Amino acid sequence: MLMSLIVVGSMAFDAIETPFGKSDKIVGGAATYIAWSASNFTKPVKQISVVGGDFPQEELDALKSRGVELEGVQIKKNEKSFFWSGKYHMDMNSRDTLETQLNVLADFQPVVPDSYQGADFLMLGNLLPAVQMSVIEQMKKRPKLIVLDTMNFWMETAMSDLEKVLKHVDVLMVNDSEARQLSAQFSLVKAAKHIMNMGPKYLIIKKGEHGALLFHGDQVFFAPALPLEEVFDPTGAGDTFAGGFIGHIARTKDISFNNMKTAIIVGSAMASFCVEKFGTLRLIEIGKQDIDERIREFVQLVNFDIALV
Ligand code: AMP
Repeated sequence: MLMSLIVVGSMAFDAIETPFGKSDKIVGGAATYIAWSASNFTKPVKQISVVGGDFPQEELDALKSRGVELEGVQIKKNEKSFFWSGKYHMDMNSRDTLETQLNVLADFQPVVPDSYQGADFLMLGNLLPAVQMSVIEQMKKRPKLIVLDTMNFWMETAMSDLEKVLKHVDVLMVNDSEARQLSAQFSLVKAAKHIMNMGPKYLIIKKGEHGALLFHGDQVFFAPALPLEEVFDPTGAGDTFAGGFIGHIARTKDISFNNMKTAIIVGSAMASFCVEKFGTLRLIEIGKQDIDERIREFVQLVNFDIALV
């Protein structure tokens, strides 16, 4: 039987400024990046999101031909898509949000289509915690693994909804500053312990160009990020990472800690493509061969021999 994957999250327009350039409104959104990434590993990807009448049909068609089902994507013809703008500094690990216009996302009521029921994997990408919760509540059978990504914006505007949904998820993904904000702890090890008491049994802390940490109980695993000569645009790297992570898990149907280690390497490999061009451009180009080659580079990067005395 097919083990399918549901992806929830924003589909959006972004305007991005980096030290290397500036983009006008380009297609972005958490669920857009997740779908482009995950569809390399598992099909169909069953998408749940909302867009306005301004969202390009060609983008929806491109996702569809990549194996992304769009029955759960509502199109509000007379409204505007979610819009986000951000600015990166020379240290591309930090960015400022310049503007967040929720538009269609503000009163989004997700509907899980019947054909999505029974999915084994649920990736709750970044959007309103109440929407993430509503999707979990609509699932007639609990998925085998529920992964949630969120960001500081929701910690600041919807913390109690976020705390509520965290009780229902297996894996939480946040970046280091968000882990500190959520836990009020500076040490990431202490932050992880604190957050794992809030619900998720697994925690992934993304550290941008410094890789990602996976925590579970007393265990911890580290995946590096590939040292790249040029990083053009880190936007969507976290979501692309999430897509690679859940895509690998859905493909292998194995939710063990050991397999999650491999999944965060796969996620890191996918994220390393995302940052090479603006927006989703690079993700659209790449195929299996590129991905396999890059994963091999990761293996090289961390493989070493040692004789203990
Ligand atoms: P990342 O760089 O992986 O953290 O994600 C960047 C993407 O997140 C962009 O394409 C934005 O459209 C989207 N995004 C930014 N803020 C929010 C938000 N508050 N809710 C949902 N999606 C957002």
